[in-house]
Amino acid sequence: MSGMAKKLPATDVVVVGLGWAGSIIAKELADEGLRVMGFERGAWRDTASDFNIASVADELRYVQRQELMLRTRQNTCTLRNKPSETALPMRTWGSFHPGNGTGGAGNHWAGITFRFQPEEFRLKSHLTERYGSQAIEGLTLQDWGTTWEEMEPHYDAFDRVAGVSGKAGNIGGKIVEGGNPFEGPRSNEYPNPPTKQTYAPTLFAEAARNMGYKPFPVPSALASQGYTNQYGVTMGPCTFCGFCTNYGCANYSKASAIVNVLPALVRMPNFTANTHCEVLEVTKDSTGKRATGIIYVDANGEKWEQPADIVVVAAFTFENVRLMLLSGIGEPYDPISNTGTTGRNYAYQTANNVQLFFDDKNFNPFIGGGAIGMGIDEFNNDNFDHSGLGFVGGGSTRVTPIGAAPINARPVPPGTPKWGKEWKKTTAQYYAASMSIGCEASNYSARSNYLSLDPTYKDPHGRPLLRITFDFTENDLRMAQYVTDKTAEIAKALNPKMLFASARKGPWSNTSYQSSHVVGGFVMGGDPANSSVNKHLQVWGVPNLFVVGASAFPQNPGYNPTGTVGALAFKAAYAIRTQYLKRPGEMISV
Ligand SMILES: Cc1cc2nc3c(=O)[nH]c(=O)nc-3n(C[C@H](O)[C@H](O)[C@H](O)COP(=O)(O)OP(=O)(O)OC[C@H]3O[C@@H](n4cnc5c(N)ncnc54)[C@H](O)[C@@H]3O)c2cc1C
Ligand code: SF4
Repeated sequence: MSGMAKKLPATDVVVVGLGWAGSIIAKELADEGLRVMGFERGAWRDTASDFNIASVADELRYVQRQELMLRTRQNTCTLRNKPSETALPMRTWGSFHPGNGTGGAGNHWAGITFRFQPEEFRLKSHLTERYGSQAIEGLTLQDWGTTWEEMEPHYDAFDRVAGVSGKAGNIGGKIVEGGNPFEGPRSNEYPNPPTKQTYAPTLFAEAARNMGYKPFPVPSALASQGYTNQYGVTMGPCTFCGFCTNYGCANYSKASAIVNVLPALVRMPNFTANTHCEVLEVTKDSTGKRATGIIYVDANGEKWEQPADIVVVAAFTFENVRLMLLSGIGEPYDPISNTGTTGRNYAYQTANNVQLFFDDKNFNPFIGGGAIGMGIDEFNNDNFDHSGLGFVGGGSTRVTPIGAAPINARPVPPGTPKWGKEWKKTTAQYYAASMSIGCEASNYSARSNYLSLDPTYKDPHGRPLLRITFDFTENDLRMAQYVTDKTAEIAKALNPKMLFASARKGPWSNTSYQSSHVVGGFVMGGDPANSSVNKHLQVWGVPNLFVVGASAFPQNPGYNPTGTVGALAFKAAYAIRTQYLKRPGEMISV
């Protein structure tokens, strides 16, 4: 890479990262007439050429060899459980699967598209009011500085852009039979009806209903029917092909930026996509209070400076935070003094599972998709009384058969030999006769969990890697046991021959996939002392810089993040369009 960056002519807006968040903001700002340049470190991806029906169902290529993911030799993270340990780099992805290329992780995601509940946006206040401040002692929970009412129109915009299939449980405050009664009041029904269900979720829902719970179809960004969104882009109905999570969709059925946004955006003359261009830094003027643009390196290793009036960073949680640390934006978080904001409140998800084995059932598990399924929310977040339980938080309990592909899907009871005749026999016996109930649970932020720059390990450009310091807290381990016990009660009602419940236990490690729902580190709030961006995703003190994505979540509830990432992207774009452009500067003064 050459030393000095060559300066290019200025543009109105640069957007770093062309996943869901960056593509939505780029489209909304291009619609406003601004000249928008998108920068993406990976390749341009397109359904027809990259995810062709003839070649896409390749488990070796996409799951084992992780073709859609970021290569760890390009960029990775180091990890440790405690500040007293030395972090080591992740050389293969295990715990989570970061994306690369246009569409980002949204190409190989599963598509479960929940909204967070109204209480989440004032979680610290809510839990303190209900249980007293001692109930959240040791946690660094925060309010988001925004409200459900402010979020809802932007959730609605994301539901429409992604063509989400589901059944509303609460429209305008009226509880609707068949939907999730715990969701916040929606202004509209889902844009598409729920997908059909396969056998395992149907059985789960029956058992849950018989126990008095209220099962609902999991909100899904897999289109249940043909659908055209507000950008004029069309999706085809999902065929339940079973090669969904970790794969791109050949069928234009799984919503992603490359299916639902970029086809409309690339046709706009005021938008340019620069792929294979890795952004290294956000530049600032001498006052430090104004972003002047970005420095990036192109596919030939040449360095360029792209000046812009507005800089939007939407490069996923890890790179959002790393770019801010490398660019000297905000004070790095110090867990000892609990001061500084960049890197603060990193959180994850607490994944739990109950596996069931039957003698008399055939689930045809090869039929499925990332977000086809049924769930209940009785044990999620604060939907149940936590008094005396010794923890806060909870999880979303559901059955979502993603498609049992031939290499990985080998469910056998624990204790089965790992190879040989017995393993083959047991695999054949249970391949179709096993199902699992998952409980994707909250992870509440704590002082000892944070992001910082690694003092030792560097990327190929010689810049420090991001260091993750993380472990599950006692609060989350107690919660995990509780929600797993509740899930096992439903599993027992299905009368399996055997069931095995695994509640999440510590310590966190990179050895098995848990979820890619990594959040926080550049969080949103009402107070610059403990947050990095205001409710418009505008960086405190650098008003022409916006940092968008799950990095803004101050903690993680028991839901998947992308519905909220999409809503935040619409929210930031709306604020820029309606307020910032009229009066550039701080939209909120403190
Ligand atoms: C296997 C899997 C399953 C998932 N399932 C679900 C689910 O069911 N429901 C759900 O809600 N969420 C799910 N997720 C999470 C979901 O994919 C993410 O929340 C979502 O993709 C985040 O969108 P984003 O735009 O913030 O980031 P990304 O999609 O990661 O996009 C960021 C983009 O920025 C680019 N970039 C990064 N750094 C730079 C740089 N320095 N310069 C230039 N470009 C850069 C990246 O290459 C990437 O394309 C899943 C994720 C995975 C991996
Ligand atoms: S299951 Fe449906 S949405 Fe998923 S990849 Fe197959 S066709 Fe696409």
